[in-house]
Amino acid sequence: MQEKTVDMDTIVSLSKRRGFVFPGSEIYGGFGSFWDYGPLGVEMKRNVKDAWWRAVVHRRDDVVGLDAAIIMHPAVWKASGHVDGFIEALVECKVCHQRFRQDQLEGGTCPSCQGLLTEPRWFNTMFRTFVGPIQDDASVAYLRPETAQGIFANFRNVQIATRRKLPFGIAQIGKAFRNEITPGNFLFRQREFEQMEIEYFVRPGTDDEWHQRWIRDRFEWYVSHGVKRENLRLRPHESDELAHYAKGCADIEYRFPFGWAEIEGIANRTDFDLRRHSTASGQDLTMFDEQSGEHILPYVIEPSAGVDRAFLVFLIDAYDEEPDKEGTRVVLRLHPRIAPIQVAVLPLSRNAKLVPTAREVWGQLREHFVTSYDDAQSIGRRYRRQDEVGTPLCVTVDFQTVEEDRAVTIRDRDTMDQVRVPIAELVPALRERLFD
Ligand code: ATP
Repeated sequence: MQEKTVDMDTIVSLSKRRGFVFPGSEIYGGFGSFWDYGPLGVEMKRNVKDAWWRAVVHRRDDVVGLDAAIIMHPAVWKASGHVDGFIEALVECKVCHQRFRQDQLEGGTCPSCQGLLTEPRWFNTMFRTFVGPIQDDASVAYLRPETAQGIFANFRNVQIATRRKLPFGIAQIGKAFRNEITPGNFLFRQREFEQMEIEYFVRPGTDDEWHQRWIRDRFEWYVSHGVKRENLRLRPHESDELAHYAKGCADIEYRFPFGWAEIEGIANRTDFDLRRHSTASGQDLTMFDEQSGEHILPYVIEPSAGVDRAFLVFLIDAYDEEPDKEGTRVVLRLHPRIAPIQVAVLPLSRNAKLVPTAREVWGQLREHFVTSYDDAQSIGRRYRRQDEVGTPLCVTVDFQTVEEDRAVTIRDRDTMDQVRVPIAELVPALRERLFD
């Protein structure tokens, strides 16, 4: 049975209404598919990045982190092949004048009006800027179109500073910019976005095995953070679609409302980048390999993911609607490590007897969890509001709490089950439900 999937408009409007994502520069009518993350979105985006960092840096002993500058020496982009090769073919409809990326069209005519298309024009999608006060050809620089090159340019620094031996990896999260011809589908294709990339350096000859291991690890990362397995698939690249630097590549794809599309690519980049930078910079980027007793240029496996695409996948995959007494309950079944708020503290009402205890509980929980406090409107409405933003657990303070037992109710988002727990045991009880 094909599961009912949510449409993009529902996700976009929930995102705006509840403060996950706003259209960029909206008071000026929006601007070029740029998006801003709101109060809940910024929490959730940080959680996506933290979950990734935890999995690929903190929980491993063979990967270290880096945070390189967005603007690098223009020679980097010459050596990497981007100045000459990071180009897209743009075609324009002769009738309605819409523009398209030629490789994204299925037929030879305009997908909107079937008009004839112009001959393709080649267009470099790197953003150009100038460094320093004089704006001439000598001061041209680029906003990085991928974070990877910051890692290659620092390969030797990191290796010497950390005395790493092969295999080892360098991970980085940061903004990347591409002047996409046709941005769209909400966060999926933007001109400013964020990447989470690892360059994992290995001994040549072990690269195929490491490639397979990273493909498996990265696929399971999405599943272990709550994405349904049946909505994910692996798609190995055909040899004619491989990037100029790659020996092999597999995409992790997600079943979006608009079809299957890439969320992460895992490529075997061989020694292409280190070799090119070595030649262009004149620096020796080889490493002494104790096993062979020779200096070698490592091969590299690159798992490259988009933060915004992962964010969108978590949001879409978690979205659920179910009938209830008041019509429909909208619930985001987000993983507790991804949900923007982990616990909401709700006094049964604004009654002056309840509020001090509820605020005391809130103060206690804030030290351990991302916690919010809400006392506006009926308790039922407040549960619904928390369900809609994916808060896994609510803690309710009622009259019994203050008059009798110093215990509170924990209410579960998914099952709606309620259990009573003494305030003194609340922190471990919540931790167990969230993270065990
Ligand atoms: P596409 O074919 O969709 O343009 P790509 O193959 O060029 O993507 P890569 O260069 O492999 O993408 O980039 C690695 C990751 O960065 C992608 O898997 C995606 O998650 C993210 N990414 C790339 N371009 C964008 C974009 N314009 N907006 C948001 N995320 C992006």
